[in-house]
Amino acid sequence: MKFAKQSDNEYIGNLDQDSDLMESLEKFAIENNIQSGVFSVIGAVKNSEFGFYDQKEKKYRSMFLEEPAEILHCTGNITLRDGKPFVHAHITLADREGKAYGGHLIRAKVFAGEVYVKKFEKGIGRELDPGTGLALLDLK
Ligand code: ZN
Repeated sequence: MKFAKQSDNEYIGNLDQDSDLMESLEKFAIENNIQSGVFSVIGAVKNSEFGFYDQKEKKYRSMFLEEPAEILHCTGNITLRDGKPFVHAHITLADREGKAYGGHLIRAKVFAGEVYVKKFEKGIGRELDPGTGLALLDLK
């Protein structure tokens, strides 16, 4: 990912074609020591996998979109999990007919992507929440 720092804590960048969106953001966070922050992405993907969290089973069910799609919006946060930057992203995609799909982003092969990242000053961890089975934000 090529990027330009726009202020002390804001970045704008282009994702590399054929990179994985999640891996690129994670690598960016590690390389820029981002221990917490938020981001948004617009662009297009070649294919993708995203999940729906089954609230009864407490696990993600994967869906695959094996065709090009527009990223209408991808948003999420960066926190620390096991001491390393962890990216949590959700995505809304549209196919060639404008039909929308989306969910908890698992992977996406980038065609093009324009990224905005805002870094926070304090690191935020995650903690397993027994009620949901999810590792939610640890705000202690
Ligand atoms: Zn999620």
